[in-house]
Amino acid sequence: MESDEVKCEDCGLPYPDFPMDVSVSNEQWTELTGYTDEGFLCGACIIQRGVGKYIAAELKFNWKIGD
Ligand SMILES: [Zn+2]
Repeated sequence: MESDEVKCEDCGLPYPDFPMDVSVSNEQWTELTGYTDEGFLCGACIIQRGVGKYIAAELKFNWKIGD
């Protein structure tokens, strides 16, 4: 029986376990994957596929300290 669980296509991490949601444009997705249909990659695998080849990844955390 085939599972319809959504998971990262590269590492197999289930979507509910993704530490963060990462979005890329359709154009960037095509560059990263070579195909134009939708798919799922976790943030780490997007970075592994793209950094140094197509993208510079930068992550900045903003701490929310009492308003
Ligand atoms: Zn992954």
